Amino acid sequence: MNAPPGTPGTPAPLPPLAGGPGGADALRPLLDTVLDALRTGTAARRGPLPAGGPDAVAARVTAALGDVLPEHGTGDHEALRTLVHTLAAGAADPADPLCAAHLHCPPLAVAAAADLAVSALNPSLDSWDQAPAASAIEALLTRTLATELYGTPHADALVTTGGTEANQLAVLLARERHGPRLTVLHGANAHHSVPRAAWLLGLPPAQPLPTPTGTLDPARLDEALARTPRPVLVTATAGTTDAGLIDPLDAIADLCDHHRAELHIDAAYGGLLTLSPRHRHKLQGLHRAHSITLDLHKLGWQPVAAGLIAVPDTALLAPLAHQADYLNATDDTEAGLPDLLGRSLRTTRRPDALKIAATLRSLGRDGLTRLIDHTCAAAHHLAELLDAHPRFELHSAPTLTTVLFRPTPTDDDQLATLRRTLLLDGSAVLGRATADGRLWLKATLLNPHTTAGDLDTLVTLLEGRTQP
Ligand SMILES: *Cc1c(COP(=O)(O)O)cnc(C)c1O
Repeated sequence: MNAPPGTPGTPAPLPPLAGGPGGADALRPLLDTVLDALRTGTAARRGPLPAGGPDAVAARVTAALGDVLPEHGTGDHEALRTLVHTLAAGAADPADPLCAAHLHCPPLAVAAAADLAVSALNPSLDSWDQAPAASAIEALLTRTLATELYGTPHADALVTTGGTEANQLAVLLARERHGPRLTVLHGANAHHSVPRAAWLLGLPPAQPLPTPTGTLDPARLDEALARTPRPVLVTATAGTTDAGLIDPLDAIADLCDHHRAELHIDAAYGGLLTLSPRHRHKLQGLHRAHSITLDLHKLGWQPVAAGLIAVPDTALLAPLAHQADYLNATDDTEAGLPDLLGRSLRTTRRPDALKIAATLRSLGRDGLTRLIDHTCAAAHHLAELLDAHPRFELHSAPTLTTVLFRPTPTDDDQLATLRRTLLLDGSAVLGRATADGRLWLKATLLNPHTTAGDLDTLVTLLEGRTQP
């Protein structure tokens, strides 16, 4: 049965499965190979990203892989050794303290380990009979996190692939409440996915408001609300992607109340600060939004994907209800099988809730708060180093964990070239952002293991690259 009829000799065994009674034993030796290859690949890279730039990396990958679909396979161990070593050797690794360009976090080991179990069992959250415990874990997790944000008795949340999908769902839910003439008003500091959601959903073009100071100015919003016909959805940001700034949420919520507009808050980056007694005051007013976006693959240390959209009452999710006989036949639902289709626009769906739940349980509130506070403190420390340094200009003290700065003297072209040089030689991954009409280097600190020594190393490296 293992080989087509007529094949001579003993047929090779079929490759083992990850699940079932033999799954764990089949996985264990493969995991050893994966972990060894992660180690050798990371050692071979020697830095935050591979040296040489895109052509050199692509050439090394091509050379290592050879034929991607060989006529005869090389077997599990060889395939894993080659692919995982190549992946790690060519990674931009956010666990390296000098990899600090984007909202690209180093995942916690506990979360990555939990995710392995998801891959082994492959629950799919489009119907209860594919995910009995996984759907119950997701229900507990989403209610817990939504209650944390809103404090209301029926708060709920949906798991998404990230902030982009969460923002799309927020705009979709508002459109379902108010119809296709809904205007989305957002700051120029908003994530690009906000106006794109209006485009995707066929709404009138979203209206951006200038944010010269980096955050949405209540006076300007007041004027815009006075001249924009209802219905209106205002989106504010708690943790801008470029500068980590937080819009004045309470003042914006007051204006939305006054003008009968709805409010969505994109807290993809900053939302988890709500757990930290030291930092949560920065989110004052967050709970007044009709919906909140939260990303746990940023300040939450999850492997991608780990997004959420939270609402104060589960009834607000009703517009997503949907029926397909093969997944949630009416009689099955009436007989008590949970109906999961209305909890996403996706069908087949990984239980990303598991790794999040494992992380919350392992670290607890105080453990997560410690990571948040430590990462914010690292950003402050870097800002102080740069501010005190005669050869750097700091843009402003960080609100979250983003630090914008420029070497002095420099111009925008030199600065952009410096960033690319660091990327191409593999020594540091820094981002770029425009603020006050000038280009800045951006360090987005998300690594809770980053030490003062690592930040000294970064400053010394930049000093060496910007000799006047
Ligand atoms: C990162 C980010 C998003 C997008 O989230 P993805 O997870 O990349 O889809 C949306 N809004 C803000 C403010 C972000 O920082």
